[in-house]
Amino acid sequence: MGSQAGTVLDPKSRNTGPVILLGAPGAGKGTQAKLIAERYGIPQISTGDILRDNVARGTELGKKAKAVMEGGGLVSDDLVCAMVADRLKQADCKRGFILDGFPRTVAQAEWLDRHLTDNVSFFDKGKPYKIPPVVINIKVGYNQLLQRLTGRRSCPTCGRIYNVYFQPPRSEGICDVDGGKLVTRKDDTEEVISERLKAYERQTLPLADFYRGKRQLREVDGEGSVESITGAMFKVVENADRL
Ligand code: AMP
Repeated sequence: MGSQAGTVLDPKSRNTGPVILLGAPGAGKGTQAKLIAERYGIPQISTGDILRDNVARGTELGKKAKAVMEGGGLVSDDLVCAMVADRLKQADCKRGFILDGFPRTVAQAEWLDRHLTDNVSFFDKGKPYKIPPVVINIKVGYNQLLQRLTGRRSCPTCGRIYNVYFQPPRSEGICDVDGGKLVTRKDDTEEVISERLKAYERQTLPLADFYRGKRQLREVDGEGSVESITGAMFKVVENADRL
């Protein structure tokens, strides 16, 4: 039986299962994923972060992904699915995980479905069982997305995300948490943003229908304050009849 947000005794001791965040670039997936990860003690798996890290380290994967990412397109399904399969094997995923930026195409969603069925189990008193994913679509209008993306800055040290219009740091360009110098993502320029939004409309928007058809889709209005959106997200996770 699900329980109301705030009444779960210890959200960190239960199996949360897979949580999937859908939403356009700039919808707030990264910000919300971090807060969900913290509350439930499960890892945030951001395919964008893992890819950026590979690009920065100059790995084979990074070399293959770099040009596509800089142009705002999507990295091939094969590469991204293999990367996620690898990440889900790690021990910190055993109570659940939150996928942020994956799946991004219907082919990735179909792969994930098979992968969760065939390879991912959770355990109750040593006994394996399956938990279906809860899929949350964060909905934000186009103009708001543009402002969020052009105003986005992040701290390279702690990952905290700011926005120069809506959530500026206390001193300009400096992280409130650790004093790091804030950076703008390379693909947050207007030209690349427009390509990313096109890729979203063509390839990622159909995913909402895919999960709606499976009755796994929940929608959250992503235009309020961070706190109100987070509250709505916790409610969805905790009322998903799985905790
Ligand atoms: P993000 O940080 O989620 O906006 O991702 C940044 C970039 O990484 C995207 O514009 C894509 O080029 C690439 N990327 C991230 N996740 C995926 C994915 N699931 N499939 C394909 N490409 C991805």
